[in-house]
Amino acid sequence: MPAPQCASCHAARAALRRPRSGQALCGACFCAAFEAEVLHTVLAGRLLPPGAVVAVGASGGKDSTVLAHVLRELAPRLGVSLRLVAVDEGIGGYRDAALAAVRRQAARWDLPLTVVAYADLFGGWTMDAVARSTAGSGRSRACCTFCGVLRRRALEEGARLVGATHIVTGHNADDMAETVLMNFLRGDAGRLARGGGLGSRGEGGALPRCRPLQLASQKEVVLYAHFRRLDYFSEECVYAPEAFRGHARHLLKLLEAARPSAALDLVHSAERLALAPAARPPPPGACSRCGALASRALCQACALLDGLQRGRPRLAIGKGRGGRDEEGSSGPPPPPPSDPGTSARASLRGWEGDGRDRSPPTPQKLGAGTPGSEGGGAGGLNWV
Ligand code: SF4
Repeated sequence: MPAPQCASCHAARAALRRPRSGQALCGACFCAAFEAEVLHTVLAGRLLPPGAVVAVGASGGKDSTVLAHVLRELAPRLGVSLRLVAVDEGIGGYRDAALAAVRRQAARWDLPLTVVAYADLFGGWTMDAVARSTAGSGRSRACCTFCGVLRRRALEEGARLVGATHIVTGHNADDMAETVLMNFLRGDAGRLARGGGLGSRGEGGALPRCRPLQLASQKEVVLYAHFRRLDYFSEECVYAPEAFRGHARHLLKLLEAARPSAALDLVHSAERLALAPAARPPPPGACSRCGALASRALCQACALLDGLQRGRPRLAIGKGRGGRDEEGSSGPPPPPPSDPGTSARASLRGWEGDGRDRSPPTPQKLGAGTPGSEGGGAGGLNWV
């Protein structure tokens, strides 16, 4: 079937049918609509006030690349200035290439870039060292748990380093839906209570952070990158296949096959979720070690690093009531961290777990058909 005319400009042929509205648009009109929707999200949510210095968490992947590009387009209208902050987790064979993509973007868009490394912030611990420490314990799949916690802290440190007043991250609707599913599956009422909305206002001295792409589907993020010809890194992290998030992603795809709006429905459900008072987390206090926001004596990052230093990482990654290791037998001895004494003033709450999709996300892979085709899968993306 030939592609219809664009429903917006009525001049060009449509290149896609939008998953949410079913509207057939050409590439230029789709990109303009995408940018207008992100602008609306930012303005309606009062996410970035005029004058804000915004640290964009830049990974080199599709989401942060699209976020940085869209915000750069919108920056004059929003009255904000942008800084790219990238985190080097210390993942051999993966992160170096991703950081190279971030450097190309910074140079192309003339944006200042700062890179912060786990090894510098967390006493020599890199993700490869964490993986070695947990290998053989049956808990190596927890790499993303450590990484999500530490990255959040590292991004905060990097943002402060560049004088940012706000942090933005590239999480899209699919990412957030996966997080909601994971929290449901874990019965994690505390994170469900914190997970709604478009971000956090920055309680306890933390910088406000938000997710301007939270209402955009992954398919549309990929399509925007496609039509804007953005250069991004699309290899999968070596630890991603072990992540629990992969199961949530699979479940989400099954749900979307039956109900195309499932991802956004889950995002909105989390926003509307009203938890019983007893399920709400206690008011956060300060970590007794680093002073950062914490709901227990130690913040999450200090607890994780403490477990690593003592060679008992599972204490940190289990739910750990009363100090009991819920994961069973003890693990192998830890690798020698470089200098525990200088380690991290780390703190984290509301970690994303991450393990987010780093596989090559082309429009075709996501279900978009070739010009004139009827392809498009659950989202109905045609004619790309
Ligand atoms: Fe970190 Fe993401 Fe790799 Fe997991 S998949 S280890 S969260 S970079």
